[in-house]
Parts: sequence; C-alpha cells; structure tokens
Amino acid sequence: MTFLPQEIIKNKRDGKVLSQAEIDFFIQGIANNTVSEGQIAAFAMAIYFKDMNAQERKDFTQSMVNSGEVMDWQDMHLDGPVLDKHSTGGVGDKISLMLAPIIAACGGYVPMISGRGLGHTGGTLDKFDAIAGYNVSPDNDLFRQTVKTVGCAIIGQTANLAPADKRFYATRDVTATVDCIPLITASILSKKLAEGLDALVMDIKTGSGAFMVDLKDAQLLARAIVDVSSVNTTAIITDMSQVIGYTAGNALEVQETIDYLTLKKQEPVLHELVMTICSEMLIQGSLAHSQSEALQMIDKVLTSGQAAETFAKMVSALGGPSDLLENPDKYLAKAAVIQPIYAKQAGFLAEMDTRLIGLGVVDLGGGRRMATDKIDYSVGFSEFCHIGDQLALDKPIAFVHANSKKQADAASAELLKNIKISSKPVSKPQVIIEKIV
Ligand code: URA
Repeated sequence: MTFLPQEIIKNKRDGKVLSQAEIDFFIQGIANNTVSEGQIAAFAMAIYFKDMNAQERKDFTQSMVNSGEVMDWQDMHLDGPVLDKHSTGGVGDKISLMLAPIIAACGGYVPMISGRGLGHTGGTLDKFDAIAGYNVSPDNDLFRQTVKTVGCAIIGQTANLAPADKRFYATRDVTATVDCIPLITASILSKKLAEGLDALVMDIKTGSGAFMVDLKDAQLLARAIVDVSSVNTTAIITDMSQVIGYTAGNALEVQETIDYLTLKKQEPVLHELVMTICSEMLIQGSLAHSQSEALQMIDKVLTSGQAAETFAKMVSALGGPSDLLENPDKYLAKAAVIQPIYAKQAGFLAEMDTRLIGLGVVDLGGGRRMATDKIDYSVGFSEFCHIGDQLALDKPIAFVHANSKKQADAASAELLKNIKISSKPVSKPQVIIEKIV
C-alpha cells in the first residue's frame, strides 16, 4: 500500500494511532530520501505533541532498525552471548572502556558501536581516537574477527547501521524535537539493536551533567526503553551530578582506564558504576546467575589481569600499539601546561555544575562546538575531587591540563565558579539510583 507522507503526518498531528505500515513507509522514506526534511520535521513535531502508544513505539523502533543492516553473529559460532551497554552520556564517563574488556574476559562478546562527544558530554570514540593508531572505522571483517577472537571491539557508527536515525536525528537536532521520549527511545535502541544483541544494559544518567537532568525524565526514558526493547534489557539510573572518576578529557581518560584495569588506581564512584553495570550485563546474558556470582567473576578478571590483557588485545587488533599498557606515555598526548587548581576556601565539596565542567573541557579544546572541529586529546582535568571530599587550601581540587598558561588559568577560574564548597560535611551522592527491568 502506498501512502502520502503528509497524510501520515496529518494522522499523527490529529492524535491518531499510526499503523505499522504507515510507520514503515515514513521511515523508509527517511532512509531513501523520498520524504523531505520539512516532512521529517513536521512528523517529529507531531510525535512530540501527540506521543506514541506502546505498539507505535515498538513499530517505530523496529522500522528504524530495519532501515539498514542488522548484524548477525550466527556464522561466527560465538560460544557466549552478544552483549552491550549504552550510556546517555556524561562527563568523565569512561565506563565503556573498561566494561567491554571485562565482559569479554567473563565470556561475553561485545560489538560496541559508539559515538563522538555531544555538547558537554565526552564520546567514547574520541577517547579511542586519542590512542595513536587505533582505527575506529575498521572494515566489517576486521571488526567481526576482533569481536570473535578478542571478545570485544569498540568502533564508530557505520553508514549502514540504522541509517534512518542519522537523517532523522540531524533534523530533530535543529527543530527542537530531540527531547521527546518516543524519538529518543527509537534513536538509541535502533542503533543498539542493529548490533544483533542478546541483551542490553542502559546506563541512564541523571543530575547536573546528564542529558536527562531530572530524575523523572530519566525514569520515563528508562521505562520506555525497557518496554520497547526486543531483547533482554535493564535500565540503570545513575548519578551524574559530578565528574565520574578522576579525569575528564580524552587521553587522560584512557590513562585512567589503564590505571583502573591494571589496579593502580580505582576511583570508588567509577568502580561502583563499572561493577554494577557489568554485573547486570553478566546476569542478563546468563553468564552469571546472581549479582554476587557476577561480582566475583568481575573481580577475578580484574585481579588476574585478564581484563587488562583483553583491553590491550583489542587496542592492538584495531591498529593501536601493542605496548600501550606498558608505555602509555609513548602514545597518549600530554598537555604543555599541567597545574593544580586550589579552592579559595577550605570545607567540603558540596556541588558541581558538571555540565559547565564538561563545557570547560570543550573550551580547552577537548571537545567540539561544531562537528568539524578538531580535538586536542591532551587537555582536560585530572585528580578530580568528589562531592563530600574535604578540601584544604593546599590540596588541589583537580589539575588542569592545557596547551597554554592562559588557557590553564582561564579553565581554573571557570572551574572554581562551577563548584560549591560547604563549611559543613556533605554526604556523598547515591551512585546507583534505580534499576528498571
Ligand atoms: N542520543 C541518541 O542517540 N539519540 C537521541 O535521540 C538522543 C540522544
């Protein structure tokens, strides 16, 4: 049956329930350019105001998945489940970098397709780009072989994975229709489901550095994603009211990942996030039967060095150096100026405007304001304090890494504006807020 795009838009505008055939027609039209940008914008706005019911959301997501290739792992004869996690993004969020090798070392397979930084949030792909030689766009054979032999491969979006989303998102981005639950659900899930997964864990962040700042919105998105997903899916709502881990900035976060996997330094908030999300993945993938079993498995691959070894193998399989773990300084860019940032008063770190801190990394050159901007991988912050930490005048809140003294001073002054210090002790925020299954 043939439809007219404007009739489908009108039906949604008038609050009608769209049929699967109507949704398929429109999404195919997005993918093959037979619906115009104006029509996409009107369709998105109609959904924004009239929403979609549960069936429409499922049909819409499936249609987006079917707009391109869906990976099939059957012919690879993998002896474990195909698993992935997706985060809605944050500042210092390097969880994927350690999570993929941990899951692989525990017997799962992780074909992770990641994105670049968006606004104030860092992107997993930019962190891997900070490793000299690592190829985030390998050919399909190398990607599949790396997943099979190493257990994980983290690469960038390919043109044929959920291609309708690329065009749809670009129009949403400029028509005030990004913040719309059914559209976000389909956008995120279509790209993940196209990986041919057995199970997915979503890390939905809330708080000052999150895409969904309000807990209520995070809960709505979590519920929508779990309800719409066609594979075992858990959504974990986690706190993003402070920088995750000790670092924010691309090469610095790779260094923190190495320190984490080699047990040199494990920041407690980051560690709790990694342990919780990884254990949920192992349970969802039936590699563990309880959280305590899962936690033991993760602990074992960390302490035995297996997870670190898997990370090293993935890096070298995808073109990076084979001695990154032994000689990170040879491969990770270093900023010209590294200086401490001191609080102006003693007390307790009470609050961070994490979004502005993320934008501080962008200002240093560590992120993009426009898609075409080049990134300076060396810059950012390290040794970051956390909410609840006691601050003294001679103890740095963080170190800034910049490529000039002027930039370092400006970033330090800005950072001090973006934190609040209390004279009274402050309790640490709850890291894992809610689990939605
Ligand atoms: N990230 C996505 O990939 N899609 C959205 O719609 C929002 C955030």
